[in-house]
Amino acid sequence: MAKEILPGVFQLDVPFSRHPLRGIHDYLFVGRERHLLVDTALNDDECEASLLSHLRDLGVRLEDTDIFLTHMHVDHSGLISRLKREANKVYASAVDRVYIDAFQSPNHWKWLTQTNVWCGVPDEHALKPEEHVAYSNRPSFSIPIQEVRPGDVLLCGGYEMEVTDLAGHTPGQVGLWHAETGSLFSGDHILNKITPNITTWTLDRDYLEMFCESLKRVKSMPVRCLYAAHGAPLPHLHGRIDELLKHHADRLAVMESLVREAGRPVPAFDVAKDVEWSRGEKFTEITIQQKWFACSETLAHLRRLVSQGKLYSRWVGGTLYFSKSEP
Ligand SMILES: [Zn+2]
Repeated sequence: MAKEILPGVFQLDVPFSRHPLRGIHDYLFVGRERHLLVDTALNDDECEASLLSHLRDLGVRLEDTDIFLTHMHVDHSGLISRLKREANKVYASAVDRVYIDAFQSPNHWKWLTQTNVWCGVPDEHALKPEEHVAYSNRPSFSIPIQEVRPGDVLLCGGYEMEVTDLAGHTPGQVGLWHAETGSLFSGDHILNKITPNITTWTLDRDYLEMFCESLKRVKSMPVRCLYAAHGAPLPHLHGRIDELLKHHADRLAVMESLVREAGRPVPAFDVAKDVEWSRGEKFTEITIQQKWFACSETLAHLRRLVSQGKLYSRWVGGTLYFSKSEP
């Protein structure tokens, strides 16, 4: 059953029975003529049935519902090809829209698994393009998307919502901010218990720094209610932001010492395999997909340590090696 979190704004819980995140919280702004759905779900029958049944219960027609995507990830964007009707607008940030369009290109998936080479992942641990969890859950075809930028204002139901920059978890994640009620619809930027994944999308940007700067920006905003896309509500927003900042600071320290202890230039894979990942699992115990996330996240941290002047890096073939002293 949908829960009314603000007058005319509903939280729609969409379960995932075959995905570790177990579900998503979408949000629906019900207006007089047009409605706005914030995020969708995976591209499958279960998610489609659940979302359509929420809309039916609320007497909302899909034809009258525009869609706002907080970010490109397929648990948020995958269902757009099933939901988009001719009259619906689909909004996403200018940055993440490019990635959503690219989901239809085989080159995108080849490029995504290029991370294996950057990280020096041996073949037996390397994720293949079509094995990526996003591949089977992506939208079925390309959808026209209207770009939004931080600072844009969208009329959602009776609310004027400002598009807010929450970049880091993806390069162009955005939220919706309502200053009068102190409400921030924040996608995957800050989650209770789950640490949002930081991936190395390209090597020319420091995505971990981008994420931490977005955390600090949210901390400086007068947020009274944070509406996240996964998990239980946050009892203490500032405390959770501090926890996330500390988590990454601690992980940077661990990775810096692993590179120092190696005593020779090492690729991200060699560091990732000695880090303790979620729930205390060892690298050898996690799936190939989780190894891909772990290596990509390790690369983002090592890249940050290079930006901070704490490590050096150099390319050997297509792989980036990190060392404590200048090579
Ligand atoms: Zn996400």
